[in-house]
Amino acid sequence: MYAARRILKKMRYGEATVTVVDPRSYMTYQPFLPEAAAGSISPRHVVVPLRRVLPHAEVLTGRVTSIDQDRRVAAVSPLVGQPYEVPFDYLVVALGAVSRTFPIPGLAEQGIGMKGVEEAIGLRNHVLEQLDKADSTTDEEIRRRALTFVFVGGGFAGAETIGEVEDMARDAARYYPSITREDMRFVLVDVADKILPEVGPKLGEWGLEHLRKRGIEVHLKTSLVSCVGGHVELSNGVTADSHTIVWTAGVKPNPALARYGLPLGPRGHVDTLPTLQIRGSDSMWSAGDNAQVPDLAARAAGEENAWCPPNAQHALRQAKLLGDNVIAGLRGFPQKEYKHASLGAVAGLGLRKGVAMIKVGGLTLRFRGRIGWYLHRGYHGMAVPTWNRKIRVFADWTLALFLKREVVALGAMERPREEFYEAAAPVTAAAVTRAEPAGQAAEPAERGGRAQEKEKAAAG
Ligand SMILES: Cc1cc2nc3c(=O)[nH]c(=O)nc-3n(C[C@H](O)[C@H](O)[C@H](O)COP(=O)(O)OP(=O)(O)OC[C@H]3O[C@@H](n4cnc5c(N)ncnc54)[C@H](O)[C@@H]3O)c2cc1C
Repeated sequence: MYAARRILKKMRYGEATVTVVDPRSYMTYQPFLPEAAAGSISPRHVVVPLRRVLPHAEVLTGRVTSIDQDRRVAAVSPLVGQPYEVPFDYLVVALGAVSRTFPIPGLAEQGIGMKGVEEAIGLRNHVLEQLDKADSTTDEEIRRRALTFVFVGGGFAGAETIGEVEDMARDAARYYPSITREDMRFVLVDVADKILPEVGPKLGEWGLEHLRKRGIEVHLKTSLVSCVGGHVELSNGVTADSHTIVWTAGVKPNPALARYGLPLGPRGHVDTLPTLQIRGSDSMWSAGDNAQVPDLAARAAGEENAWCPPNAQHALRQAKLLGDNVIAGLRGFPQKEYKHASLGAVAGLGLRKGVAMIKVGGLTLRFRGRIGWYLHRGYHGMAVPTWNRKIRVFADWTLALFLKREVVALGAMERPREEFYEAAAPVTAAAVTRAEPAGQAAEPAERGGRAQEKEKAAAG
């Protein structure tokens, strides 16, 4: 989206046509997914509709399935209907990354990813639904499972998501008579010996202590061994039964790249020159999480063989230079090299909790707690694309200062036709039998003990 915008901005009228192909009709600002999952930002405000921000481009909602470099055509598989070909003179490949998974028993069936806004919405509804379930059941086992939340991976995505979701669940528990924070079990697992490596060891250590103080169980140097049927087994022998297993253990370049016939690096990224041109081509470029771009700033500082890490800071800047280089290629001008020294990193761990590492000149400044959180919000609030979204996000945050957090679970949103179907479907004998199995009504169990306990504790 950024590259296309740049090309359209610099292009002379009629000089070229720009076609953007994406299976989603919107761009997602992923750093805000944890806040969207916690309800601090409306999910609609973390996405930007492509057709609105690229009014002069042709936007096709579909997937590029293959590229024929000799005939210069891309095969597009649209949302519906037959695939077709789109011819091109210049090509930009920016498919991003997908969750990196391992063949762990049960993971594919039980895991929840955190790469898209749909997953953030789903996770929020799911977690609140677990509180609804736990509060309304008389079965201790169901309750324990519902109140156990496991997150695998302690980088940006994992640490921020567990921080935000735990904060939301703690907040929401106030409205559930039988649930306190102590009844919930939050588990964070990582194979590394630290969390949040992006913000450096000092802030990572602070983040770890902070999460532990909030009652989150953190297991380092530990991996997920199995989660069949929601029964979680960790390599250190710890077990948990849970309906919520969130997988945030890193990303890998989009596997669709393997079908494009482009030169790939050892880990499947598009092999890209510092000019963002794909190696061996002067009319194809790549950037972002799917590209292996030499990190010239780190190399100049003595880090041999450094590559740009997969983050939004690089992706957005690369996209702008890429746009300029496409225009330069179109007009026969020289290409510029991408060189960007990291400005630092910020992470939010829930309301008014965060860390920020800011690099100014040769100095590295570190902030944590409330100031770290303000810097996290300030940075991302300004980085989210378009003024429309910036204003909406700041409005969400401002409203949240005065109104309480929204804690309604709209899980039924994923099955909107269910109730109508039940009303409209012909009533058959089989349906009646299924709904009310004769003579099998369970004895109603006692409920309410826990709620009274919580009331007493509150009163005491
Ligand atoms: C939860 C989370 C938190 C993060 N937090 C931070 C942070 O705090 N700071 C930071 O700097 N970075 C953060 N990141 C990383 C950052 O968001 C990514 O590095 C950045 O989004 C990469 O941009 P991209 O354009 O390369 O890929 P994406 O933004 O993933 O875009 C790729 C696009 O390609 C499309 N696509 C996929 N397959 C096809 C196909 N076959 N044909 C056509 N289109 C296709 C996708 O639909 C998508 O729109 C975070 C990521 C996550 C998931």
